[in-house]
Amino acid sequence: PPVEIDKVLDGLNPVQREAVMSTAEVLQILAPPGSGKTRTLTSRVSWLLANGMNPSNIIVATFTNKASKEMKERISKMIGGGLENRLIIGTFHSIATRYLRKYGHLIGLPSGFSIADAGDSSTIISRIIKKNKYSTMDGNDAGNVKSRISNLKSKMQSVDVYIATQKKSNHNDEFGKVYSQYEKELKNSNLLDFDDLLLRCLDLLRAHPLCVSNIEAVLIDEFQDTNLVQFDLMCLFAARRNRITIVGDPDQSIYGFRAAEIGNLSTMQEVYPHTIVINLEENYRSSAAILHCSLEVIEQDKARPQKGITPTHEIGISPVLRQLPCPYSEARWIVQEVLRLRAVTGNLFTFSDIAVLVRSGGLAREIETQMNQRSVPYRLLAGIKFFERAEVKPVLDYLRVILDPSNSEALLRILNTPRRGLGDKAFKEISATAEKKGISIWNVVQKAARGDMKIDGISNPGLVGLSKFVKVIKDTQNTLQSEESNNPEVIGTVIRSLLEKIDYKTYVGEKLQGEFEDRWQHVEEFITQAVEFCNNVLAGIDEVDLPDTEAAGNPIEESELVVALGKFLANAALASVKEGPEADESGNGSGVLTISTIHNAKGLEWPIVFIPGCYNGSIPHSRAEDHDEERRLLYVAMTRAQALLYLSYPSELRDRKSGEMQDSNLCSFLAESSLKPLMVDQGPTITFQSIQSFSNIMSRQCPTNEEVQAIINAAGLERLDDWVESDELTRNYGGYPEDEFIGLGDEYNFQPQR
Ligand code: ATP
Ligand code: MG
Repeated sequence: PPVEIDKVLDGLNPVQREAVMSTAEVLQILAPPGSGKTRTLTSRVSWLLANGMNPSNIIVATFTNKASKEMKERISKMIGGGLENRLIIGTFHSIATRYLRKYGHLIGLPSGFSIADAGDSSTIISRIIKKNKYSTMDGNDAGNVKSRISNLKSKMQSVDVYIATQKKSNHNDEFGKVYSQYEKELKNSNLLDFDDLLLRCLDLLRAHPLCVSNIEAVLIDEFQDTNLVQFDLMCLFAARRNRITIVGDPDQSIYGFRAAEIGNLSTMQEVYPHTIVINLEENYRSSAAILHCSLEVIEQDKARPQKGITPTHEIGISPVLRQLPCPYSEARWIVQEVLRLRAVTGNLFTFSDIAVLVRSGGLAREIETQMNQRSVPYRLLAGIKFFERAEVKPVLDYLRVILDPSNSEALLRILNTPRRGLGDKAFKEISATAEKKGISIWNVVQKAARGDMKIDGISNPGLVGLSKFVKVIKDTQNTLQSEESNNPEVIGTVIRSLLEKIDYKTYVGEKLQGEFEDRWQHVEEFITQAVEFCNNVLAGIDEVDLPDTEAAGNPIEESELVVALGKFLANAALASVKEGPEADESGNGSGVLTISTIHNAKGLEWPIVFIPGCYNGSIPHSRAEDHDEERRLLYVAMTRAQALLYLSYPSELRDRKSGEMQDSNLCSFLAESSLKPLMVDQGPTITFQSIQSFSNIMSRQCPTNEEVQAIINAAGLERLDDWVESDELTRNYGGYPEDEFIGLGDEYNFQPQR
């Protein structure tokens, strides 16, 4: 209906409209940050729907799960009718998982495989390294070995291919052995790691292209960071109709270190010679001042083709570059500036308007401490992995084992959690027996519990504990399988009863440090999430089954509840990041501030952005091989900001090894740019004009003259500017404020209650 089509095109500029309505079969929308790529892609999906395309025949790949969720919400607003719930939308990994669940049996994949999350992979690798006592690596290298394996897999260098090439060069290295054992262990535990999900899906679609015979259009966001496997997947997804739209920006390619293949853009043009390229050239996100600064950084890359980008916003407030004496004062300055900005603008913006973007999670710690001290509510977009929490992970593992006891990784972790009197010796013997007899750990455990198999090292109390454990697992399996209702609340009841049987509360209270209340709340939150997720699955809102195609569908007969729970577990494994409470959940309407790594901030935007730690060694990182990629990383970070951008760095740092303070230098990308004049000794001068400019860029109601006057009066100042220059604040910004902050904050009550 034409009404919907109007809604889809509403507010787009002519080039964006052209891209949305283009009849081109293969389309690349290449454009700088903030030019509306994601918005255009979203509208194009809506456009296809409005023109009658069946949502189950459309694949949309986004970079994060959160991005899919947002895209669905927008599509729902434009089109309505719940069509968005039937789209095959998600990250490449989650889309691949859905295909493998439905069709994996066609390539001999055992049904009910589990996903090895990042933690599982690391444990397996470090166990292999420790067991074999290699000379060139130890347990600490597990992380590196893991990413090396992952990089090889992303380049389709399977273990066989790898070992064959090594043999040719007559090089028998230990890494190859770890790689090969790792693959074996995954297989034995019925696990697929993240890379396997994509690789097996590739195998599947190559062998059985009918699985995607219904697909009419494939759309991909953040294409510049796809790898070789994802590229091939794209081609296979689209094989029937060859209708592909990708959006991307080579300047924002920041995952080269994880084998993202920037060459995919040109390969695509070679594979599909009729590819049409559309460029968007207007920036709708940032003030002109922020845009100019970010361009100065990216344009240092001389190999990069020149491209046009024009701001649509006014010049706004100049970005600020600050040098602080040390990381502590840097963190402190950020928190004070946040509080001051809110006060000075009459709470024109909320905490959720603000993000602090860091190069690595470690940098965030000092900032968190300061935020806690000043009661600034924040969430971490990086760092807290909810499902990895000590009190949450075991619950997840219990469920994983209940759905698939051959998942030895999960099983080994919960065997003695809570304690059941099994010691190291028992664990060793159980594993050794499994290996010797070629049976699964679960088999050994069952036999031992029944008394059918004698395992050295298991004490009598241990044996009792083991029997109880087996009983709990089996009972829960039976309850779930015999459950006929498909009421998702049942999932909650089942989990609660399970936790009661294993006395999990006592475990959380006694064995884990920290506030019991907080921890138990996380367990409750986990249960709520599980129930909600299953509810959405059963209601056809989330993870809807793939449509039937000419390929043979899923032969597994499982209760709907079990299927839904399985989807929840897969999702938990893929959710590498816990998306913290959304804005305004803090109860007082002022939202929460975001702390994120730059990598996780891709595609997002905030009115106010702080980028601390802009020193050589952090950006560019001391271990980074590709300096151009480091520059792009800074560019990505800067271009997240809409109205205010703060860059900062400490002039001294504590050396990790010696513990001594050492000089640090301003990040060379900033030092080389003509940004230098922006360097100021005090926070940006907040004048009435700048408040107005902020309001314009953010399309928000600016405080009236009277309101500003009220703020000024309440602060006991004559003019707003006096406040900014006030001694108290200046002193606090400049030096080491050992004494507590005595800004103007407290009497304005701009600190929300936690
Ligand atoms: P990135 O490269 O960072 O992912 P992007 O190109 O995907 O950026 P979007 O996130 O789609 O950009 O858009 C940036 C902002 O500009 C959003 O707030 C979006 O709503 C807004 N925007 C996009 N197009 C227009 C337009 N034609 N008019 C007004 N605002 C727009
Ligand atoms: Mg985008």
